[in-house]
Amino acid sequence: MKGFALVGRLVDYRSVRTGAVIVEDNVIQAVVPVGKLGEWGVDEVYGGKNYLVIPGLINAHTHVAMARFRGLGEDLPTEEWLEKIIWPMELEWTRKEILEWAEIGLKEALMNGSTTVNDHYFFADEIAEVAEKLGVRAFIGQTVMDEVDFPLANPEEGFRFFKRWKKSGLVTPTLAPHATNTVSLELMKEIAELSRETGARVHIHLAQSRAEVSEVKRRYGLSPVGLLERAGLLNERLIGVHGVYLSDSDFERLAKAGSSLVHCPTSNVKLEARTVNLRKLLDLSLNVALGNDSPNPTGILDPFIEMRTAGIVANLTAGRAHAIPARELFGMATVGGARALGLKAGLIEPGYLADLLLINANKPWFRPLENVYSLIVYSTRGSDVEMVIINGKIVINTKT
Ligand SMILES: [Zn+2]
Repeated sequence: MKGFALVGRLVDYRSVRTGAVIVEDNVIQAVVPVGKLGEWGVDEVYGGKNYLVIPGLINAHTHVAMARFRGLGEDLPTEEWLEKIIWPMELEWTRKEILEWAEIGLKEALMNGSTTVNDHYFFADEIAEVAEKLGVRAFIGQTVMDEVDFPLANPEEGFRFFKRWKKSGLVTPTLAPHATNTVSLELMKEIAELSRETGARVHIHLAQSRAEVSEVKRRYGLSPVGLLERAGLLNERLIGVHGVYLSDSDFERLAKAGSSLVHCPTSNVKLEARTVNLRKLLDLSLNVALGNDSPNPTGILDPFIEMRTAGIVANLTAGRAHAIPARELFGMATVGGARALGLKAGLIEPGYLADLLLINANKPWFRPLENVYSLIVYSTRGSDVEMVIINGKIVINTKT
């Protein structure tokens, strides 16, 4: 047969085994004991003793092209930062610059172990082009708003992008209303209808700021989740991001509807000095995924850092130590993200997408190689990823 195998400690949300993963075409063909590898006649074998093989991490909320703004206006208040730094630069961007910065941001996410990104930004055509070129699995939505006058956020442009890309290879277009206070109820209803017809995910910033919640209350007398429900968006295709100002009853409604919440703890603490009570969300059985958000403010698109930060910050909101086991945090970055996006990925099982990472654990910070969930969440950095496999293809191999 053609194909290749990855050997090492195989770690996914369900189990830890030592063995070999056989990859052929774009899926995992089999998981076998190392001693049986010879029977498969694969072309190449990678990894070995002291290697970890894990599912690729799913970065469920990014704005990759915003790598251009990394560190700029770092200490300004959010409004001033947007008005003085971000918006003027965005309005002047050329196509060439967008392609260049989308590539920088996507490469960064990829090199650090994100096999899938869920991106929300303007210039979605360019970002999709770069994702295809780099071989990254990407859900991409063109950000739209109609309550705020911003030329790049024209709703027609969003619909045009969505229809043009349909499902093309590794790129899946999403519908990306900006937030509950920047998009009208009418436009939300239109988006809900299109999502219902096509099955597309709807990716929206949700209760990210206090101002968003009070504006929605003033306009409609509703909470942000109440507004989504009225618009017909509260269902399993909804991916809400942040949720730092949602009430417990809003979280319950999201959980009941089968929607997903993307938790971005670094961004939340840095921009809002606030975060969600992750323990409570898991107790409600709400599906939670993790996201790096934008390289400004979060500094780096590294999903390992987000797992670690989520674990540490969760103790503060839960008011106790060890609030979330490392395995659960790893689950959010793998099966949680896969469920949010409707992907058969995130587990090392035959038939699952061959989106995998090979981690070289021949380093001091992986000793002792025993509690691997803890090592993945608290000791690994993106730079420890030696090989990135997406859709059965080796996209990064730092050894060559
Ligand atoms: Zn965002």
